[in-house]
Amino acid sequence: MTGAHPHSRGLGLTSPVSRAKMVDDLRRNGVEDERVLAAMQKIPRHEFVEEAWRGEAYRNKPLPIGLAQTISQPVVVGLMTQALIQPSVEAGPRKRVLEIGTGSGYQTAVLAELIERVYSVERLKALSEIARKRLSGLGYRNIHFGYADGTQGWDAHGPYDAIIVTAAAGDVPKALLEQLAPGGRLVIPVGPPNNQMLKAVDRHGSRYKSVDLATVSFVPLLEGRA
Ligand code: SAH
Repeated sequence: MTGAHPHSRGLGLTSPVSRAKMVDDLRRNGVEDERVLAAMQKIPRHEFVEEAWRGEAYRNKPLPIGLAQTISQPVVVGLMTQALIQPSVEAGPRKRVLEIGTGSGYQTAVLAELIERVYSVERLKALSEIARKRLSGLGYRNIHFGYADGTQGWDAHGPYDAIIVTAAAGDVPKALLEQLAPGGRLVIPVGPPNNQMLKAVDRHGSRYKSVDLATVSFVPLLEGRA
């Protein structure tokens, strides 16, 4: 949905060749959806991490993005996105997605490549502002940023065909279930630090059905803004 990224060429460890190796790694680890793989081949992940970590950007690991937060490891981003974008049997393709936890904006960019409208909420003002500038600089025009406590969702723009949470919740926040459209899917890590399960929750009319996808390790979903 965007043109060529102006700064995406990179050299050596930040080059498209390194990115292609990351994509091979994704394939070996269960990311099969070609649309997701193409988006991750295109997006310059090294521009989303702290400068000192750029050389590590295409290895399969989480990295610091400031304020004690981390960008998720590529395989987890791939698996979550793949689970999220599968068309709904009852409602068709997913056109509006809500993301809780903008962080660096990397997952946001992956979503913006694949889904028409992206709404992304972050509770840390500094991170939200940096991500907004970064994604605008990369040419994305289909993302709406919110500086807010995402445990409340973003009611003004709902309901959503898809909701993704990139921080771990103790329980699935009720507001997110309510803001999911019929046929919608929520992908969310749930559980305490060391014992988190990534879940996909599908809404069928007023009923919800949950399946476990993988064990994961995310920073906690916190209440309030800072
Ligand atoms: N998707 C991000 C991952 C960032 S880590 C990326 O690709 O970089 C998780 C993010 O969730 C952090 O930035 C953290 O501040 C944010 N977060 C935690 N609780 C939140 C809440 N209640 N509302 C919004 N954002 C939250």
